[in-house]
Amino acid sequence: MELGKECIFPIEDALEMILMFDQTGKISYANNAARQKLEYDNDLCGKNICDIFPNEFRLAEEQFVLEDFVGSELKNLVAYRKNLTCFPVEAKLLSDADSEMYICMANDILEKEFLNREIDRIKQEAQDAMKVKSEFVANVTHELRTPVNGILGNLRELSEQELDKATVKSLNLIERCCDDMNKIINSILDFSKLEAGKFSLEPRKFNFRNMMDYVKANHINKITEKGLGFFVTISPQIPECIIADELRIVQILNNLLSNAQKFTSVGKITVEAVRTAQINNRMELFFIVSDTGIGIDEGDKDKLFQSFSQVDASISRKYGGTGLGLNISKQLVELMGGKIEVESEKNKGSTFSFSIWVDICEGEDAVLQQPNDEKRVTGAFSAMGVSPDEEEALEDIRQYGTDANLKNLKRTLSKLILCVEMENWEKAEMFMDTVKQLTNEAPKEIKRTVLRLKMAIQKENYDKVDAEFKELNNLL
Ligand code: ADP
Repeated sequence: MELGKECIFPIEDALEMILMFDQTGKISYANNAARQKLEYDNDLCGKNICDIFPNEFRLAEEQFVLEDFVGSELKNLVAYRKNLTCFPVEAKLLSDADSEMYICMANDILEKEFLNREIDRIKQEAQDAMKVKSEFVANVTHELRTPVNGILGNLRELSEQELDKATVKSLNLIERCCDDMNKIINSILDFSKLEAGKFSLEPRKFNFRNMMDYVKANHINKITEKGLGFFVTISPQIPECIIADELRIVQILNNLLSNAQKFTSVGKITVEAVRTAQINNRMELFFIVSDTGIGIDEGDKDKLFQSFSQVDASISRKYGGTGLGLNISKQLVELMGGKIEVESEKNKGSTFSFSIWVDICEGEDAVLQQPNDEKRVTGAFSAMGVSPDEEEALEDIRQYGTDANLKNLKRTLSKLILCVEMENWEKAEMFMDTVKQLTNEAPKEIKRTVLRLKMAIQKENYDKVDAEFKELNNLL
């Protein structure tokens, strides 16, 4: 069978090289791609396949033994051109029993390899640039700390002097701004260290209950001031002392609790810590932070743990924040060998839970050998960490017109007006959020008054607030 340029096979114009040869290796057909790549004219037919692939195909006593190759993918073959230069190919060999012919289909992988190398190079460059950027961010944020702390130091010195009310108010405001700035600097610093892989945990022995008390003390005022319930429970199965990075556990809990408090106006916040597993001297702890706040849409859950991600722009405008907290928490939890998850329902609340592995201190084993010790807690808590009875009570508070709702509304309004009288507009706005939630289902007239009250508070207009407050009280 002598096939040449005039061949009418559709394979003639195929992108891969196609060569047909007999049992002696003699090529009887080469398609256009093969002729071009191997730089032959019409003289490829008649050549031997061993001239093209001398490293792989050999003739032994005029006998061409290829059966081992047939059907399989042949990687890293070297194809030789007419001028004896070569290039790498990937090939496949087929045999046709009837005509006793072989067909070799080969692809030039030089370009593919070149592209792969280019991709690797670009990837490496991007990683290097990322590292430089992270180091730059880390340096700059570190440098920012000095002036902020300088302002804070001077501020404290100033506060010790006798000052008029207005100056004290301004100084307090500056102090709060500095504290906020420090929080942002610390978040960016942690984030860039984690991104650059330069973050390491510092485990040491500490008292677990003392740590939880400290976390509780950090948040109790802000939470209860908002009129929310706050409950912290620690399983007795957790020993007094453990070995872990206390500072970082506190950081994760602080972040989750700050969010819970930020996004909740009605109901309660709960924290639960339990022991879920033990292997030798390592123990898994499981934390659950639940709130009955604004909740998160199913579709937004994936975004939560990404860096700089806030659910939507209106949330960031209203509640502030950098969108780094949950990403840092996730990375810290993973460094501690655990996982962080969220369950949430819009307008019902959110439950963030995370696990970490810690070391058990010597001598604490006795505490751990109690019955039911190994009970895992997954599924033991309802999605919101709220029992059906409690959920009903919460529904009652939210439902306009119920006793619980009215009581809560009046209590919140009286706190609100007190804040206005003390010119604490920010806190008044916070209570306004609660009033808005509690009157979500109220008649239009009440809702309009609530809206006007909210606008008056935002404009810090005492007289207007007073008028709308009285109007609302009458309507209620
Ligand atoms: P930020 O510092 O901006 O709060 P986070 O990473 O801690 O950043 O949170 C990212 C976003 O996740 C928040 O802006 C908010 O939209 C959402 N979120 C976090 N916690 C809660 C919660 N308990 N309830 C509702 N939304 C939440």
